[in-house]
Amino acid sequence: MSDTEYDVIIVGGGPAGMTAGLYASRAALKALMLEKMIPGGQMMTTTLVENWPGYPGGIDGPELMMRFQEHCVEFGLEIGYGAVEKIIDHGTSKTLIVDGKEMTCKAVIITTGVIPRKLGIDGEAALVGKGVSYCATCDGAFFRDVPIAVIGGGDTAAEEAIYLTRFASKVYMVHRRDELRATKILRQRIMDNDKIEMVWDSVVEGFESDTSGLTGAVLKNRKTDELRTIEIQGMFVAVGVTPTTAFVADLLELNESNYIVAGEDTLTSAPGIFAAGDCRTTVLKQVSTAVGDGAVAALMAEKYIDELKYKD
Ligand code: NAP
Repeated sequence: MSDTEYDVIIVGGGPAGMTAGLYASRAALKALMLEKMIPGGQMMTTTLVENWPGYPGGIDGPELMMRFQEHCVEFGLEIGYGAVEKIIDHGTSKTLIVDGKEMTCKAVIITTGVIPRKLGIDGEAALVGKGVSYCATCDGAFFRDVPIAVIGGGDTAAEEAIYLTRFASKVYMVHRRDELRATKILRQRIMDNDKIEMVWDSVVEGFESDTSGLTGAVLKNRKTDELRTIEIQGMFVAVGVTPTTAFVADLLELNESNYIVAGEDTLTSAPGIFAAGDCRTTVLKQVSTAVGDGAVAALMAEKYIDELKYKD
């Protein structure tokens, strides 16, 4: 095999991708994991992971991912860097266009995960890096002793709001309903935290800013239509995620939210292409489920490659 030919190429280097890589390389397949930036995926921007078994008291997301990476490289997984632009399915072989260059393999495992969703409000894009952020662990420390807001009511918003109380003088948690979606333990921590003020039934209508960046947000109460302006220097948007699947939109079946349609067996609509982790239609999006998915995908890819030997 040449240095651009592999048994299996894994696209995406989060927990699902690294586990698929560990299992594939341990099964003596020539495996490459392609990552756009740094392996670890969403876990690289997560603070304490409390629900990954084996770590009572929790472990930092980036530290856990460093351990994953060390572990899968131990078995010979190659890690490459680059963005996959397109996959061309020739049947028994696949060509990947990676930053304009071609790579071939017998099977592909897609583990590209999800990226944070934007609010989609006028002025949002211009304020990114000037007060608006999608990652509390990346940017939280820039907001010491100033008021900020977190938008959203899910687990991510709750974890970010709690984390940000380390820095900010006050954290408004703005949620569009009157009940948080976040799990019970996080809901309780939010209610117990004196630095967090809940703003219920409200959405962001607009931004206020000056040359230094964000200075405030206009909020609208969805029940009363009342407008309220809060003075904030930072806004952390945590309103859910979008799967990174555009590059396979014309190749694989996607659902209405653009997740790759694949069951627990990780089989997609194209033979030899498997989907694992948050980018597929899963009921739960956790490190533990991504890890299980990665292992299944590697096993299915191994079986698929074995069966190719009996085809002409
Ligand atoms: P999520 O669960 O989809 O929550 C998104 C939140 O944003 C919801 O509260 C939603 O409101 C709100 N929202 C959506 N669009 C909005 C808009 N345009 N304007 C205002 N608010 C909007 O997303 P997530 O919190 O990022 O979590 C994603 C997945 O990862 C979930 O399965 C979650 O359980 C998991 N996760 C787990 C952990 C953990 O276990 N430690 C940590 C983080 C994430 P509604 O509630 O009204 O829909």
